[in-house]
Amino acid sequence: MRISQKLSRIKPSATLAISSKAMELRAQGREIISLSVGEPDFPTPKHIREAAKQAVDEGFTRYTQVPGIPELRQAVAGYFADHYGVNAGPEATIVTNGGKQSLYNILQALLDPGDKVLIPAPYWVSYPAMVQLADGEPVTVPATADNGFKITPDDLDRAWTPGVRAMILNSPSNPTGAHYTQLEMDALADWALSKDVFIIADEIYDQLVYSPATPASLAPFWKRHPEHVAVCNGLAKSFAMTGWRVGFTLAHPDLVKAMAKIQGQSTSNICSISQKAAVAALTGPVDEVNHMREAFARRRDLVLGMVTSWPGVVCPKPDGAFYVFPDVSALYTEAMPDSTATCAMLLEEAGVAAVPGAAFGDDRCVRFSYALDDQTLVTALEKVGQAIVG
Ligand code: PLP
Repeated sequence: MRISQKLSRIKPSATLAISSKAMELRAQGREIISLSVGEPDFPTPKHIREAAKQAVDEGFTRYTQVPGIPELRQAVAGYFADHYGVNAGPEATIVTNGGKQSLYNILQALLDPGDKVLIPAPYWVSYPAMVQLADGEPVTVPATADNGFKITPDDLDRAWTPGVRAMILNSPSNPTGAHYTQLEMDALADWALSKDVFIIADEIYDQLVYSPATPASLAPFWKRHPEHVAVCNGLAKSFAMTGWRVGFTLAHPDLVKAMAKIQGQSTSNICSISQKAAVAALTGPVDEVNHMREAFARRRDLVLGMVTSWPGVVCPKPDGAFYVFPDVSALYTEAMPDSTATCAMLLEEAGVAAVPGAAFGDDRCVRFSYALDDQTLVTALEKVGQAIVG
């Protein structure tokens, strides 16, 4: 079977090896705790589920407008007004099949063959592949644990070359949990503006920021410079709605039209029922979102306390998302020389699945998710601690 050359350049998901090994061990009867999950362990709030049921009962089950039903686009605009004081019309919004499709479509809409895209590393696994699928060239900009996994305008200056069309800025970050303050974000945006580099802001974890840190966004920057940034978000993480596939973007209406053109020729509208659920999520009560945030903040402290007690392990305090990304490279040996070998050892000896940092562009680290209940987290990390430090 002949598959395109373009696809042969795309790496398969590096997390698959670990999850298939975990499944194999489970099949042998071993108890495996997975700290590799990328989704909240909470159910979708009840009023959102009810709205979906109502949509089904009322027969709201047909094709809709490609960029989303008007009331949902209005609700998306309302999100940016409520949280960041940015007034935008619905024509500056689009609803996509998860945050993923927003990012994918923006890259398809913006890039010409060979255009370069700056990607701060550690990065979310899909960014380089998405850039390549849009015929672009990913250029990584490394950040390290010592500077809290954040890049600065100086780092960007060093990475910049002619031909850089865009950069991706993910805050709070998957995998590090690093969160840029509004000042830090604005400084990066000013740098991008000075170089005519378009910013793709991935803010999917913006509601999962832990006090005293406060949410930050490039939405206000978009208001000032609508041709220079697109702000992507979605309901998967903050509203515990991963399976519903609702993402959204705030962007210049021309870019929105371009994204809608791609959707119109590929996926069309997102699920009509999910759209009604999304309206309920964006316009309804947020007590459960607040409750989830409090739980994640507590677990962040719990997990960080355990991970940083392991000698030689360095882990900056994450201010958001639900991951820690410790640098475990001080523990590497000839027999366990990298993050993939470390995760294989953790799976075998501790019965805990984690994701190797190599998948995120940093082989010194491993990623643990804390989207699990407190007791399971403690049990899992005690086992990890015993396996790595004895
Ligand atoms: N961006 C980041 C940083 C993520 O971690 C994820 C999901 O893991 C997404 C985007 C995509 O989310 P979804 O497509 O489920 O809305």
